[in-house]
Amino acid sequence: MTAQPLDVQPTPLALLLLGRESDTSSERGVDCPGDLPAPSDPDLVERARAAKAKLGERVFVLGHHYQRDEVIEFADVTGDSFKLARDAAARPEAEYIVFCGVHFMAESADILTSAGQQVVLPDLAAGCSMADMATAEQVAECWDVLTEAGVADVTVPVSYMNSSADIKAFTGRHGGTICTSSNARRALEWAFGQKTAGAGGGKVLFLPDQHLGRNTAVRDMGMSLEDCVVYNPHKPNGGLTAQQLRDAKMILWRGHCSVHGRFSLDSVREVRDRVPGVNVLVHPECKHEVVAAADYVGSTEYIIRTLEEAPAGSKWAVGTELNLVRRLANRHADEGKEVVFLDRTVCFCSTMNRIDLPHLVWALESLADGRLVNRIQVDDETEKFAKLALERMLALP
Ligand code: SF4
Repeated sequence: MTAQPLDVQPTPLALLLLGRESDTSSERGVDCPGDLPAPSDPDLVERARAAKAKLGERVFVLGHHYQRDEVIEFADVTGDSFKLARDAAARPEAEYIVFCGVHFMAESADILTSAGQQVVLPDLAAGCSMADMATAEQVAECWDVLTEAGVADVTVPVSYMNSSADIKAFTGRHGGTICTSSNARRALEWAFGQKTAGAGGGKVLFLPDQHLGRNTAVRDMGMSLEDCVVYNPHKPNGGLTAQQLRDAKMILWRGHCSVHGRFSLDSVREVRDRVPGVNVLVHPECKHEVVAAADYVGSTEYIIRTLEEAPAGSKWAVGTELNLVRRLANRHADEGKEVVFLDRTVCFCSTMNRIDLPHLVWALESLADGRLVNRIQVDDETEKFAKLALERMLALP
């Protein structure tokens, strides 16, 4: 069997336009009743402070690492999506959780917090292109294909945290677990330990990020590229034969991150020429050839820690979201550490960037005025099975 090509497929949804004046009829779920302040309003910072002070302990603002500085300034806590959801659960006195991140993160926070806590996403159009690449219908169809090929019984789904609540619930229903980029290896080892018999041995259906799945299997666990196949939801039977499914160990969903998927082998070569002695540090959502050419690979928290522990005078090219890289570059400049972005072209996460100060002010002022806006609420049935999958992750050895 030959390895699947490591190409990047087009995003099924058009990238969303930024800006107050953009056409809301083309944006999913955008609804900002009341007055959204203009980005040029000079009083935005003061208004955010005043609304937050008025709400006091009733509000807890979470800021994902990829958020803009102007938003991070108002975060009570920063972190990756899973850490933030747990931080929210640990603050039961906070009636409102304002999640400055993207939709799937707010869903996870709703799943992990108590019934009395209400999760708010300041802009409902802040989605995630990766999470959107696996819909509930597509994944149900994939499971039918695996059943038809006689491999569903020996397959355990493992879904990345960056997936919708529906996909997490599918994972829980079918005996699988969620993983983060920090514990993907442990999740895969656990999953392979669940099903060892049957056609071709145990298998994992890894959703929705093919790169994290492939990098973990090949780089961290010693599998070969030939052990991995890519299921393409836009092709009949995922573009795979029953025999390919039977032979594979890792069935990778054809999804990727629009930000990390941009880094290329050329980016690595170019930065090594441009910055002699540079250490290349990338996130495992990058393509396999980028990860293979890098010096260090790890989650967002790993990237932050590695730069903190780096010696003065060291040089780093970092392959992750630009808001975070800029912040880290500024933070470590005084310590004599040089931190540059891995690619020459600017690449923010466009949906993360939808949460800006005007939307945050609007959300906080609405809450302070007693109006609950942009609530993210997962239905009970979905929550039950998504939570099961999340709890399996928490119980990983
Ligand atoms: S950085 Fe990638 S995975 Fe994260 S929210 Fe943006 S598109 Fe999704």
